[in-house]
Amino acid sequence: MQYKIHLSPPHMSGREMKYVQQAFDTNWIAPVGPNIDAFEEGLCRYTGSRHALAVSSGTAAIHLALLALGIGKGDIVLCQSLTFVATANPIMYVGATPVFIDSEPVTWNMCPNALEDAILHYAHLGQKPKAVIVVHLYGMPAMLDETVYLCKKHEVPLIEDAAEALGSEYRGRKAGTFGDIGVLSFNGNKIITTSGGGAMLSDHAHYIEKARFLATQAREPVGHYEHREIGYSYGMSNVCAGIGRGQLEVIDMRVRQRRANFFTYQNALSRIESIHFQTGNADMSSNRWLSALQIKREHLSPEDILMALASEGIECRRTWKPMHCQPIYKTLPHFGGSVSESLFERGICLPSGSDLTYARLADIISKLAAVIRNKHRLQ
Ligand SMILES: *Cc1c(COP(=O)(O)O)cnc(C)c1O
Repeated sequence: MQYKIHLSPPHMSGREMKYVQQAFDTNWIAPVGPNIDAFEEGLCRYTGSRHALAVSSGTAAIHLALLALGIGKGDIVLCQSLTFVATANPIMYVGATPVFIDSEPVTWNMCPNALEDAILHYAHLGQKPKAVIVVHLYGMPAMLDETVYLCKKHEVPLIEDAAEALGSEYRGRKAGTFGDIGVLSFNGNKIITTSGGGAMLSDHAHYIEKARFLATQAREPVGHYEHREIGYSYGMSNVCAGIGRGQLEVIDMRVRQRRANFFTYQNALSRIESIHFQTGNADMSSNRWLSALQIKREHLSPEDILMALASEGIECRRTWKPMHCQPIYKTLPHFGGSVSESLFERGICLPSGSDLTYARLADIISKLAAVIRNKHRLQ
């Protein structure tokens, strides 16, 4: 399928090549160099995190976060079920067991009640969970007051998967800075990109130092060549970090553009009774990485809508299928009800690129409204 309008394409600022050129001019074509240092500093400045580590992907950052927290074989990690698979897979990499937690309907993220049930259940069995991974889905911050409170109360470390949420805020503070460790992604379709990359954020220097050591093959800082632990090659390239520096200079504009897409959709479509947007509450400011909504209309599935819009060259996407329903994870425990399943069954994400023009938004809106009102013949 050749789309005219993509879901979330990369959007260059024009400032990236300056830093990429600097990398070439100085021959820092390596997973070390001045662009990486400057990008990490820029991430700290922007998010308010004390420390940052740039790595090769968001998935690598989650893996390193688990390793930095000392999580390994036989441990239990409580993980939001409604998410992209990269939130959960690193739990398996370290030999731990993911236990999935349902969502609540306001933010679509981890339900604090189900989270507490799970913590108490495993604590009672003498198997207190070793970490919680909460996600800010499509940019919408989770119920962070409740989640942070529960993790503190039960002394379980919190990892925030903010891969989709750079620039989102909760009570004026940036997403990714509430947990013991926060994770970002700079994959090609995220709000800013390094072509592929990620980062780990933390106020605790020792987590970042541990992760930096493991990300660079765990080579011991001694005179000769020595290894006492198994490491990884997870560093970000200095060339990619150059793209990231150029992108980070326009992050505020990108957040404004994506939020404007959402408000345009919301203003135009919220009168249609069957449409329910991902809302959040007054404490939350989503970067609206993707504009997400549910269509509660009988005999009109998300698949029908996707196909009708695809035939017009418009790329939409269904909401993630929850992890506890995936063939690879369906035998693992799950806490809570069926909120994430119904979000999967009724949810879609609309084109949300920061380069969308008003004319294109208007086009998407009229085609979607026509499909919902059934004026459009479904193929
Ligand atoms: C994109 C994404 C990741 C992983 O990021 P990569 O950089 O693609 O490895 C992790 N979690 C969520 C929720 C994501 O959307």
